[in-house]
This record gives sequence, structure tokens and C-alpha cells, in this order.
Amino acid sequence: MAGDERTPNLWGDKRYQSLNYFLRRKFGQKVFKVCLDAGFSCPNRDGTLSNTGCLFCSARGSGDFAGRRGSSLEEQFAEVKAFMHKKWPQAEYIAYFQAFTNTYASPAVLRGIYGQALNLEGVVGLAIATRPDCLGEEVLDVLQEVMQKRYLWVELGLQSIHPKSAGRFNLGYSFDDFLDALSRLKDRDIECCAHLILGLPGESRDDMMASALKVAGLPLDGIKLHLLHVMKDTPLGCLYQQRPFDILSRDEYVEMVVDILEILPADMVIHRLTGDSPRHTLLEPQWSINKWEVLNLIDRRLAEKNTWQGKYWIKPPELSI
Ligand code: SF4
Repeated sequence: MAGDERTPNLWGDKRYQSLNYFLRRKFGQKVFKVCLDAGFSCPNRDGTLSNTGCLFCSARGSGDFAGRRGSSLEEQFAEVKAFMHKKWPQAEYIAYFQAFTNTYASPAVLRGIYGQALNLEGVVGLAIATRPDCLGEEVLDVLQEVMQKRYLWVELGLQSIHPKSAGRFNLGYSFDDFLDALSRLKDRDIECCAHLILGLPGESRDDMMASALKVAGLPLDGIKLHLLHVMKDTPLGCLYQQRPFDILSRDEYVEMVVDILEILPADMVIHRLTGDSPRHTLLEPQWSINKWEVLNLIDRRLAEKNTWQGKYWIKPPELSI
């Protein structure tokens, strides 16, 4: 699609298809994600694969803005809803299982937890974040049952296609594991959003662009681009405090996000373009604290270059995986 002459601004006021835009079109009104912590663990933290976890993973299992662990889903949901309802009385909600590995339990337990979320008033769908190695066939059966009742997408950690990074950051799964999980989700028509991390130490710009290029050729429905956040309560944070490593600058990050958006397919939903961490735990990059400034800079750079999501996407010869 290089050299495409379509006018930009295809997605409201954005040059990319944001999740907010996508959900508004799909449901005809504002839809919020409510981040929940259902009390799951993770095989990379409970000793099954390791006790360390992915080196960047926080004490809250990368669910730092999820509801209070230990509170019921109903309580967690009610707290967020009460706040949102004041401004958006008509809004609907996606219950987002964010913290830890949200398919890491028996099918019966999963069925019960997802069922509770489906019963919450105003919930139009579920989003379930997990690892590629925690999607056995029985789990997929449960997900398919959810999909028959309500809208569903699964978020799958990839982070990087490079084996050196999978090893260095103790992910405990490989790119092949990711491809296998994606293939089995797609066999059942389950929507999938992949997570990529930009700024992993040891990865060059070319490495990160190679991950994005590979993802652009996969049958994914969405993508989350995470800026690497080095946080105090993580193994990576300890390493950084002992021996600081290079961190992406804001300009480098903005430029790379713009380049990545250009090569992603236009119909891929962009769930996120930066990162979110509590201020008190964030070591670096400090420039990322002002998330809106980063997002505005990305918008500005897209406009300056007169470019947009998908401008240089090249359809792969075949989309089979
Ligand atoms: S898979 Fe997720 S929850 Fe588990 S250690 Fe890695 S980032 Fe943390």
C-alpha cells in the first residue's frame, strides 16, 4: 500500500484507529475498560516456570491500575463505575482482566470468574490478558462460551520476537509459542491483541522495528505498544539501580511509534501507544509521566509527516501462521 493517496484522518481526530474510536463505533457510545484483579497468579511467578517473573513485571503482576486484589469483582467494578458514571451516565463497560495471567486456572474456575463479570450491570464484553502458554484447548472452550454471550478479546503477551530478549527478560515462552496460541485463537475466531514492548535494553531500533514488522503481517485484531517502564519493585528496576542502562528518549520513542504505525495494517486496533505506571514506583523514563504530552507529540508528528496508520503496510503474501 506504499504511496497510498487516501486522505488521512480516517479515524475521527486521529491518524490511527484508537481503541476508543473502535469501541464507540462498535457499541454506538462511550465504552470504558474497567481493570480488574481476579486474584490469579502466573506460572512465571509461582515456581512452575520460575519464581522471578518477567524481569519488568511489577508486584501487582503488571496490573498496577486494576481494582483492589482481595475485593470482590463486584466491589472493584462498582468503585470504577461510580466514578465514570458521573461524567458518562450512558457509558458501557468492558471488564478487563489485567493483573497476572488471567487464564491460569481450571476451566471450572475460569467459567465462574468470567460468569461473574458477565453479570455485572453495563458490561458489554470481556478483555482477558494472558500468556501464550496458558491457552490450552479446555481454556479456549471456556473463552468460546464467553464469546457466544458477549464481545471478547484476548490480550497476548509477546513483547519481542527475538529469542535473546525472551531469554534475557525471563519471559518463559518463545515467539513460536505466541504463534501457536494465536493460530489456535484464530481457529476459533477469537479476537486477539498482542503486546509489544519498546525500549527493552539490548534491543536496537532495528530489533524493535523487526518485531513490529512481523506483527504487522499476522492476523491480529489489535496491538498494544508499551514503552518499557523501569519500576522500583521489579527485578529490572534492581538491575537498573545497580547499573543504569540506556533508556529511550522521548523523541526516539515518538519517532519509532510513528514509524511503526505506518507499517501496521489500517484495520488493526491500536489499544495503547505508551505506558502507564504509578509515579511513585517509576524509575525511568521520567518523561513518560506526562502520558498526554507523549500522545500529543505522536499526533503532532503524524501530522507533520502527513502520515497515518497503514500508510506503508504491505500485505504479506499469505496471512497463514
Ligand atoms: S507473564 Fe505477565 S504476570 Fe507473569 S511474570 Fe510475565 S508480566 Fe508478570
